[in-house]
Amino acid sequence: MLFTYKYIKHDIEKLQEFLDFLFYDVWLFADGEFDAEKLNGNPDLKQIYEDFGNVDYDPATAKKGQKGKSEYLFNSSIEKIYAEFAKIDEAYKLELIDLYHYNNHIELLCSDKSKLPISYAQIKAKYPSLEKAINEFYSKLYGPESPFNLDAFGQLTKKLIPDHYEAFMTDNNEEVCPFCGILPIKGNNHSYRDAYDHYLPKGLYPFNSLNFKNLAPMCHECNSTYKLTDDPIYEDYKKIDPLKKEDNRQLAFYPYSENHPELEIKVELTSKDIKNLQPQDINLEIKSEGNEEQIESWKRVFGIEERYKALCCHKNEGLEWFNSVVDGFNNAKEMGVTDFSKWVEFKLKEAGTNKLSNYGFLKAQFLTECRDKGIFNANA
Ligand SMILES: [Zn+2]
Repeated sequence: MLFTYKYIKHDIEKLQEFLDFLFYDVWLFADGEFDAEKLNGNPDLKQIYEDFGNVDYDPATAKKGQKGKSEYLFNSSIEKIYAEFAKIDEAYKLELIDLYHYNNHIELLCSDKSKLPISYAQIKAKYPSLEKAINEFYSKLYGPESPFNLDAFGQLTKKLIPDHYEAFMTDNNEEVCPFCGILPIKGNNHSYRDAYDHYLPKGLYPFNSLNFKNLAPMCHECNSTYKLTDDPIYEDYKKIDPLKKEDNRQLAFYPYSENHPELEIKVELTSKDIKNLQPQDINLEIKSEGNEEQIESWKRVFGIEERYKALCCHKNEGLEWFNSVVDGFNNAKEMGVTDFSKWVEFKLKEAGTNKLSNYGFLKAQFLTECRDKGIFNANA
């Protein structure tokens, strides 16, 4: 990615805190039947559980749209997962403590390949009914069916997320998608917002669907066309053998890293025919010493090569960048500018002044290559 976001503290984190409490203080100690007393360590959550228990809802007889479904889902999920934890062996519980921690320590998973997350598939291989209970709960936590949309939790979708987004965009006001640098991200002058992406896909990994260190606003193209459910930390997660899960493990950029490297982007053209430039005429080199693997992961997940090359070949981008130098000189001549090479230098500098404006990070490199290959001179 071109740059990273600044993580912000927000009330929305209390939802993950409830989930952490359930895991560390309730489910891990599962023994016998669940009752409200097991929630004594978190009086707020206990109160919510008891209030939800008073809502009259029976899934067997409930009519469509009947109130109480979310309350029922929340309480019954806590109980079901508790019952499943009561059945698993102690050694596996100990293992799960580490794995739960890793699944939520996104920065560590991005930067240390010896740390392995746990996937639904792995839990399923060992305890299918535990996986089913966890999946049924966690897969619904972020979205329209989430029990966190209830008033008791502050209304996740209607209130907490819009409020978080506004605070987030106040501190992160570039209004450019950091994952591609190509498309805008809607800031606070818009009445709509861009979606949050689960960086480690929520369909693959349990326990982190409400962790905002795993959630980041992303442009629609990055989120819904390129990344989809691709996993930044595994080259091909579909091929992962649960017994050899270190296979294909890959380092990745962490969206909230506080020391993200400056990437060096170089464009090489193997054709001088700018008007008919094709992606295969472009070699793109993206470098940063010591971050080679992170760059590979980024290019893979977000289709970076394809998208940057397409921009360079675009009639209204790459060709236009080029024309603005050549045609611009003809206009500049009328104003007394006579030295073409100085004019080119001026335009290169201008293109790279703001890397996030008008694709400056790519445009400046593209024009530099046009200069170095002598393509301007042939057209001037
Ligand atoms: Zn993007």
